Amino acid sequence: MQPQNHLLSAIGTTIFTVMSALATEHGAINLGQGFPDYDGPEDVVKAAADALLDGRNQYPPMTGLPELRAAVASHAKRFYGIEADPNGEVIVTSGATEAITACLMAVLNPGDECVLIEPLYDTYLPVVKLLGAIPKLVRLNPPDWALPRAELAAAFGPKTKAILFNTPMNPCGKVFTREELEFIAGLVAKHDCYAICDEVYEHLVFDGMPHIPLMTLPGMRERCMRIGSAGKTFSLTGWKVGYITCDRSLAANVAKAHQNLTFTTAPNLQRGVAVGLMKDDSYFQGLSTSLQAKRDRLGAGLKKLGFGVLDSKGSYFITTDFRPLGFNGDDVAFCRTLTTEAKVTAIPVTAFYADRADSGDEGPDAPSHYARFAFCKADHLLDEALERMRVWLEARGQLTAAVGRG
Ligand code: PMP
Ligand code: GLN
Repeated sequence: MQPQNHLLSAIGTTIFTVMSALATEHGAINLGQGFPDYDGPEDVVKAAADALLDGRNQYPPMTGLPELRAAVASHAKRFYGIEADPNGEVIVTSGATEAITACLMAVLNPGDECVLIEPLYDTYLPVVKLLGAIPKLVRLNPPDWALPRAELAAAFGPKTKAILFNTPMNPCGKVFTREELEFIAGLVAKHDCYAICDEVYEHLVFDGMPHIPLMTLPGMRERCMRIGSAGKTFSLTGWKVGYITCDRSLAANVAKAHQNLTFTTAPNLQRGVAVGLMKDDSYFQGLSTSLQAKRDRLGAGLKKLGFGVLDSKGSYFITTDFRPLGFNGDDVAFCRTLTTEAKVTAIPVTAFYADRADSGDEGPDAPSHYARFAFCKADHLLDEALERMRVWLEARGQLTAAVGRG
């Protein structure tokens, strides 16, 4: 048999699927894959359920139902002052995952360079490579995940077509500041390229920090493709409804990419999301307030157990350093052991870094002593997970040692 696509053959099953399967196998509390264990707002779910019964179940318009496109544009105006024409500057996709691929397809030709920021979401690199483009990786390092400006500037060059980045950022909870975004905007303008802005956690920002779309910065309106996800904004990750807002000069190609990927997205879910995006400000505020309380609950508990807990300013996730517990293995070993022995699942952070070979340099390997925990779970489950880890650590004789040091 002839070899199949070498890029796909070379990658494994996503870490989220692997760890969720391991969690199920071992009866572990799954703080790995980022999905809430509670349902989204009832009115949104009900709108989608009702929509199944009123005879609009055939293909919706290719770029999305008019009511959802209008709601996406109105939401962008309400929260960020972005003016977008719902008929020509908004495209609805089957999840942000599809949106990311569609935006990359819209602008990249084989041989173009695409700047990516590590730690990165697991679909970015394979898709850039599948399109024949060349990833240029720039690494953020814990514990502060600061943007290395000189390295970022050096990653841009005459072949750069786009940068793809994520704020608030999975897995590290970094929220890009205005100054950092201004620096990125300067590079995008200087190199006459595009920015694909993965903003799926736009409403999960904590401690009063603002979420700033790059698209709102001077000169960026025509260059940015801004991506949102109903999965995150309405705690309905299984729905897979995403939306892209971009200038009409880009939207035509983005729509053609979508046309060739999925063509349309389930109409009843679109109608539910349209109801969601028109909800009062209090809904969106309540979402971040409730997630911030969960971050604090899990973060404080992990700290008490002896983990090094890094700051999380946004997203569903908190990153922890497990070395203070006295665990000497790497993050994959830690997360497996935690799952099989403590019956709590986390995600190894190295999963968000490319192999060094991909970045074409001889730099150091990715940090391998961090585990990512998702806090988008019922409080009692977070408490139960902490209790399981306490019992496990106590049995290993490491709790007192860790706390004693701390
Ligand atoms: N980008 C990031 C950073 C994510 O964490 C996720 C999580 N699912 C996605 C994109 C994909 O979103 P969706 O489920 O809407 O495809
Ligand atoms: N975004 C989720 C996470 O980071 C997982 C999405 C997926 O499983 N593909 O956990």
